[in-house]
Amino acid sequence: MKTTKIEWCDSTANPTVGCDGCELYEAGVGGTCYAAAIHTRFCGSPAYPEPFGVVETRPGRMIKAAAWSDLGGVDRPKKPWLNQRPRHIFIGDMGDTLSRAIDFDYLRDEVIANVISRNGRRHVWLWLTKRPTRMAEFSVWLEAEGLTWPWNLVAMTSVTDQATAEARLPALVEVCSLLHGVSLEPLLGPVDVTPWLGELDWLIVAGESGSRARPMNPAWVRAIRDRRGDVPFFFKSWGAWLPIEQADGIPKASKPIVVDLSGDVYRLPKRPATIAVPGPYDAVMVRVVRQWTHADLDGRGWTEIPAIRADESSAEIRERLEIEAAYRTVNFKTGERAPSPTEIERLAAEVRKNRTPETFHSECFRENHDTAGPVVDAHLAGP
Ligand code: SF4
Repeated sequence: MKTTKIEWCDSTANPTVGCDGCELYEAGVGGTCYAAAIHTRFCGSPAYPEPFGVVETRPGRMIKAAAWSDLGGVDRPKKPWLNQRPRHIFIGDMGDTLSRAIDFDYLRDEVIANVISRNGRRHVWLWLTKRPTRMAEFSVWLEAEGLTWPWNLVAMTSVTDQATAEARLPALVEVCSLLHGVSLEPLLGPVDVTPWLGELDWLIVAGESGSRARPMNPAWVRAIRDRRGDVPFFFKSWGAWLPIEQADGIPKASKPIVVDLSGDVYRLPKRPATIAVPGPYDAVMVRVVRQWTHADLDGRGWTEIPAIRADESSAEIRERLEIEAAYRTVNFKTGERAPSPTEIERLAAEVRKNRTPETFHSECFRENHDTAGPVVDAHLAGP
């Protein structure tokens, strides 16, 4: 979709639909995966003709996404943390593109070719999978094909607890990508990512949403934030359950409950005189009536995003981007016409002559100058 409410990106693209399943969804059993829920609801329609477990390709969606407008230099009133950055496109929110049925040839031709296309290079692509082992195999296969992992394609996985972190993060950091990100959503227990921190570039945390959502203990979120070192940390949402102290004035759908450090939940006794004093890491949470994109933690929002950098091997790409940027400026009336070899040579000479580190960054890679990220009131994102 060209626009999405997901806080850490601008858009989503799905070159495949369906999924082999994971700890959040099992065929025949169900689960809390929202992609499976939506797919199952509309199963049989032109958009979702097959059940969720039948993974299908959707060629053409990536080229369409690549053609979306360049958001570099554009402000996003509802997501100010993305201001001035290229369009951030989440690949695969309606399934898992690395499911077994999808072969590497398709991923090369549909995903990689469009990410590195002239249009695609204007954006940052965030590719999430719960199958990072297969993603790592794909990156090795790509190299054998003579292709390097694109600088603007971030390899990401998602984990829900310590077991899934230990199963997926060693494989994620094997992907030959410049940047590696982890989405800890829904966070269902304490997770220690410190063994892989040196190779991680982004941590996103959120609680669970939906009618069967489980509450997230704030102590789990704080532990990830406090141990992250200099890795950017993005706190997306509490999910369906808010800490009671943040729920003033918000319509509630449950009585308060207590969540302990392991995630076990118990109800508060009815008679206040018998209320046990909660432990230091126990949290009193309450379910709110509708999904609330509320993400204050200790009085502020956390919306750090990593800088997107190209390494030295991408020098050729950087130069082409600069030349094309110069070309667009000079030939604004004929921006889509391919420049002639003479024009390219002339512009290349100008770009090389005028290059400074400052213009390079402002032309090509709009980095987050402050790794601590802006302090943003999470309410700005709206419900
Ligand atoms: S891997 Fe993702 S899309 Fe597939 S079932 Fe799990 S949560 Fe849903």
